[in-house]
Amino acid sequence: ASGHTLMRDPRHNKGLAFTEKERDAHYLRGLLPPAVLSQELQEKRLMHILRQYKVPLHRYIAMMDLQERNERLFYKLLIDNVVELLPIVYTPTVGEACQKYGSIFRRPQGLYISLKEKGKVHEVLKNWPQRSVQVIVVTDGERILGLGDLGCQGMGIPVGKLSLYTALGGVRPSACLPITIDVGTNNEKLLNDEFYTGLRQRRATGQVYAELLHEFMSTVKQIYGEKVLIQFEDFANHNAFELLARYSSSHLVFNDDIQGTASVVLSGLIAALKLLGGTLADHRFLFLGAGEAGTGIAELIALEMSKQTGNPIEENRKKIWLVDSKGLIVKSRKQSLQHFKKPWAHEHEPVTKLVDAVKAIKPTVLIGTSGVGKQFTKEVVEAMASINEKPLIMALSNPTSQAECTAEEAYTWSEGRAIFASGSPFDPFEYNGKVFVPGQANNAYIFPGFGLGLIISGAIRVHDDMLLAASEALASQVTEEHFKKGLIYPPFSNIRKISANIAAKVASKAYELGLASHLPQPKDLVKHAESCMYNPVYRSYL
Ligand code: NAP
Ligand code: MN
Repeated sequence: ASGHTLMRDPRHNKGLAFTEKERDAHYLRGLLPPAVLSQELQEKRLMHILRQYKVPLHRYIAMMDLQERNERLFYKLLIDNVVELLPIVYTPTVGEACQKYGSIFRRPQGLYISLKEKGKVHEVLKNWPQRSVQVIVVTDGERILGLGDLGCQGMGIPVGKLSLYTALGGVRPSACLPITIDVGTNNEKLLNDEFYTGLRQRRATGQVYAELLHEFMSTVKQIYGEKVLIQFEDFANHNAFELLARYSSSHLVFNDDIQGTASVVLSGLIAALKLLGGTLADHRFLFLGAGEAGTGIAELIALEMSKQTGNPIEENRKKIWLVDSKGLIVKSRKQSLQHFKKPWAHEHEPVTKLVDAVKAIKPTVLIGTSGVGKQFTKEVVEAMASINEKPLIMALSNPTSQAECTAEEAYTWSEGRAIFASGSPFDPFEYNGKVFVPGQANNAYIFPGFGLGLIISGAIRVHDDMLLAASEALASQVTEEHFKKGLIYPPFSNIRKISANIAAKVASKAYELGLASHLPQPKDLVKHAESCMYNPVYRSYL
């Protein structure tokens, strides 16, 4: 290829890191200034530039520009500075980026499939330049983080998630395909925005919606085969549960909001038992929010309890209570409940307010999955702290603005006794001379390694036992030293290693269940996982 083409291709570009010999061999002389910089020096330079932007969104834009210019450098930066850059390419900043996608839109990323393409999805997928796709993250933009319907601007989410598949899980960038299915939006603001990039119509539902999704699902399998992983992301719950149920027996599908969240939270709970004492079944759980995240987590907790105790899952569900926008979910409401809430409708009189539910149920663990900020008020946290020596409080809603409470609030209102984790990151907080490090209960711990495990084993279906295996693998990475700081998740700085461990456990489960197609099973799965991981160090073009 000519030097110019090489430089313009983000997958090959190395910028000033092209060596003298490469510059000669590929007609690059004169197209670059004379200096030759190492990748390390480029990295240092870019981090310096990034840190000069004080507005997170500007850092996000700079990172997206880098991804479009020099892919390997982008991933090198992300991997080496994961704690600093994760909040930029992922929650919370990615949320703001989606909200403003219209105005920061430069070069399109990912693949758009809109209602206009109904009947022609095959052609659209064929337009994607990469042939060997292993992971698709797809959204229809209806419930982006806790920010609601962002229509076609939801594209930031699949793009961000797949960057993490590569950076944290080591899946090759060329094997990752971000997709947004645009069936319209019910967001009035977007519909009236002259710069909106999506279809200007209200959301299609019912048969039209189901047909487009079905065409998409069958075409994906037709083109990329049975082993392509399709991750559903940020669908509204009225579609999410149904899509997962409909396709889980015919496709390799995974819903991160339901299953990934469940696995990461269960992992935190397993780890927290070391601090709290007792077994899972000794605890009582109360959720604020009974949607994808809430009921997904609840179900996986009940399943793990069953594995541990041998008790039927129905028994274990009774230890778990959920509050939705109408109050505590109880039997007397059963008629009008959505199907995914029904297993959680226990015998109790109606309770409307969360604080009253806390007082009535006396949970040891309080989990926020409502998507609504500031719901764990002083009264709520104080009630938790008066019931429990060490109240476990998880404020999972993203982005930061939607968190049920802040780390500072959880620690102060519980007088330093809470064990706290949140979906979006919070800084360490000093209280009464002690520094508390809030854990981040974020899916990013699980899905990259989970996906890698499916890929290396050639899994053809996702099984709940794989989610449990992932939870245990993650929990086992939390050390004594982390516990001392009150952490129930290991630091993100080790994430590649954590992902390799999760991948190994997930793959092992796939083999055990007869769902793996890459035979024979490698002897050392951790080593195998590590050896499969994408490494962004520049290659030589000689
Ligand atoms: P969802 O399916 O829409 O569920 C939201 C639930 O919250 C519904 O049950 C809803 O009640 C309830 N709710 C809404 N407002 C409420 C209020 N004021 N009081 C009590 N309950 C209320 O959404 P989801 O997929 O579960 O996601 C929820 C949040 O979790 C989002 O912010 C998302 O970002 C976050 N999340 C975080 C992670 C993580 O990694 N930490 C992972 C996944 C999701 P009704 O059913 O009555 O409408
Ligand atoms: Mn999500």
